Amino acid sequence: MNTDDDQTRTARNAQRRQPASGVPATAPARRTSMADPICLPDPFPPPDAAPAPGCDRCAERAASRRAARATGDWSAVSDTNALIRRHPH
Ligand SMILES: [Zn+2]
Repeated sequence: MNTDDDQTRTARNAQRRQPASGVPATAPARRTSMADPICLPDPFPPPDAAPAPGCDRCAERAASRRAARATGDWSAVSDTNALIRRHPH
């Protein structure tokens, strides 16, 4: 059943679907490039810091890092890596 209200509503909705005048329906064409993709090195996970040879503190931290890795404590692994890298010699 089609009533006058339905026809009025249909006509009003049809007007709303019209694009605004002066506004392009699509974005202007952009120039594209077929250049090869850029391949970045994978920074994660960074390699483990190497303990300085002969340094007891670095050796302790390397052992602590192994223990942390064995328990899945990746935050502690990262922390010990930072400490080993920053250890002054
Ligand atoms: Zn050290």
